[in-house]
Amino acid sequence: MQRVGIGYDVHQLVEGRKLVLGCVEIPHTKGLDGHSDADALSHAITDAVLGALGESDIGHFFPNTDPRWKGAPSHVFLAEAGRQVVARGGRIVNVDATLMAERPKIAPHIASMKERVGAALGIPAKRVGIKATTNETLGFIGRQEGIAAMAVASIELPEEA
Ligand code: MG
Repeated sequence: MQRVGIGYDVHQLVEGRKLVLGCVEIPHTKGLDGHSDADALSHAITDAVLGALGESDIGHFFPNTDPRWKGAPSHVFLAEAGRQVVARGGRIVNVDATLMAERPKIAPHIASMKERVGAALGIPAKRVGIKATTNETLGFIGRQEGIAAMAVASIELPEEA
């Protein structure tokens, strides 16, 4: 059985935080605020995979009230989503994501992001799509107040799962 899922996430850009996107730390004047490492791209992909399973979202598996996930690297969340697929006897076919960020330039980091996200999910980098766009200076993304990401995931599950 083929299944698809969708995910979306946004985090606020603030001073004094590291910027982590797609499990890669990117040099920038600001970083994303949140309980974990606030990696909006990895969170959107995690939700897409969980959504394809018909599972609850990332906040259900990793509540932001739980001190265990404070500052948590988001490869942990991706790995758990991948593990849930395997536990149901399935496999991830591919994931695809778009990052919406006015700055910094994302293109130089995309190859590393694909490698790390793929490794965390347990799939080859070539089955991880990551694109980035600016918001043409419009809205909160354009004003560099935050960074958002959307993602889809395709998985195969046994008929009975
Ligand atoms: Mg998030």
